[in-house]
Amino acid sequence: MAKVLCVLYDDPTTGYPTSYARDDLPTVPGYPGGQTLPTPKGLGFTPGQLLGSVSGALGLREFLESQGHTLVVTSDKDREGSEFDRELADADIVISQPFWPAYLTAERIARAPKLKLAVTAGIGSDHVDLDAAIEHGVTVAEVTYSNSISVAEHVVMMILSLVRNYLPSHQVVLDGGWNIADCVARAYDVEGMHVGTVAAGRIGAAVLRRLKPFDVHLHYTDRHRLPQEVEEELGLTFHESAADMVPFCDVVTINAPLHPETEGLFGDKLIGSMKRGAYLINTARGKIADRDAVVRALESGQLAGYAGDVWFPQPAPADHPWRTMPHHGMTPHISGSTLSAQARYAAGTREILENWFAGEAIRDEYLIVDGGKLAGAGAHSYSTNK
Ligand code: NDP
Repeated sequence: MAKVLCVLYDDPTTGYPTSYARDDLPTVPGYPGGQTLPTPKGLGFTPGQLLGSVSGALGLREFLESQGHTLVVTSDKDREGSEFDRELADADIVISQPFWPAYLTAERIARAPKLKLAVTAGIGSDHVDLDAAIEHGVTVAEVTYSNSISVAEHVVMMILSLVRNYLPSHQVVLDGGWNIADCVARAYDVEGMHVGTVAAGRIGAAVLRRLKPFDVHLHYTDRHRLPQEVEEELGLTFHESAADMVPFCDVVTINAPLHPETEGLFGDKLIGSMKRGAYLINTARGKIADRDAVVRALESGQLAGYAGDVWFPQPAPADHPWRTMPHHGMTPHISGSTLSAQARYAAGTREILENWFAGEAIRDEYLIVDGGKLAGAGAHSYSTNK
C-alpha cells in the first residue's frame, strides 16, 4: 500500500466553502487539437467544488483510503522541519500544484528513498529537480492541457487590464474618486498593437487565437515552428528567438516552461531591447524574468506595465518587490486554478494514480520524466542541465 503525500494551498481564510457562486460548470467537450479530457474511472468530487486547498484534497481521499493507501495532505511545506519534509521520508508518491509547489529539490529527493512518482496537479513540473528525478528513477507526470485555456484567458485579461489601465481606474472607484484624467493618462487601445508570445505551445497558441479578433499584429517565437496553415490563418510573424522578436512588440507574453534555456531570459539586456513603454505579461514562471530587472524597467519607464501570477519563491514573501513596484497587475498564482481548471486537473491526477496503481501506462502526454529520462511532453518541451 502506498503513502501519498499531497501538498495543497490553505483553505479560504473564511473556512472551506459550504456554497458556491455558481451551481455548475459548463461542459467542455475536449481540448483544442483533439486531446481528450481526463478519463478516470471515478471522480470522488462534484465539479465546481474547491479541490485545490487542504480540505478539498483534490477529491482523492475516499478513492485512496478505500484501497488501503495512506493520504497525508498538508500546506506546511517550506519552513525548517515542515510537515512536508517530515512526511516525505517514507512517501511513495508526492502530489502538488504549481500554485503552492512542493519544491522537490535534489536534496529532498535524496532523502526520500521510497519516492517513485511525483505528480503535478496542473502543468509545469519545474518545482521538481528533473535531473535528480532522472537519477533516482522517479517518474514525473503532470495533467497536460488541464488549465492551459484557463491561463490563456488570464493572459488576455492581463494584457487588456494593463494597456487600458483598468486596475488603477478601478482603484479610483474604490477610493470614492472620479478623476477621469487620472485614469486615462496611461490608457491605450490594444487595437493595432504588435503582440508577441515567447512560446506557442498550448497556452501561447490559445493566447494568439484569442487575440486575433482584436485586430492586433501577432508575433511568436518557439523552438518548433507552427504549421504554415496556422501561421497564415492567424497572420503570425515568426522570429527565431525572443531577442529577435521583442524589439518589434508593444506587448510580450511569456508562455514557455521554466528550464535551463528560459531561466532569467528577461533580464536587463532583453528588457532593454524592448520598445520603450512595452508591456510584459508573465504567467509562465517567475524565474523566467529577472526580479530586479523588472523593477528597474518599471521605475525607469522602459516597461509601461508588468503583470502575471508567477513568482519565486511561492508563496512570495511579504517584502517581495513585485508587490510594490509601479504599474504592475500581479496576483498570487491563480490563473490555472479556477474551479473549472481544478475539476480537470483533479480528474487527471486521479487518472494518473489509477493507472499507476493498476500498473498501466500513464498517458504519454502526461509524462515529463519516466524510465530515467525526459519522456512524453517533457521530452518535447523541457531540457535538463546534463
Ligand atoms: P506546452 O508544453 O504546450 O508549451 C510550451 C511551449 O514552450 C512549447 O511549444 C515549447 O516548445 C516552448 N518552449 C520551450 N522552451 C522554449 C524556449 N527556450 N523558447 C521558446 N519556446 C520554448 O505548455 P503550456 O503551453 O501548457 O504551458 C506553458 C507553461 O506555462 C508551463 O510550462 C508552465 O510553466 C506555465 N503554466 C502556468 C500556469 C499558471 O497557472 N500560471 C498554469 C499552466 C502552465 P517546443 O515544445 O516546440 O519545443
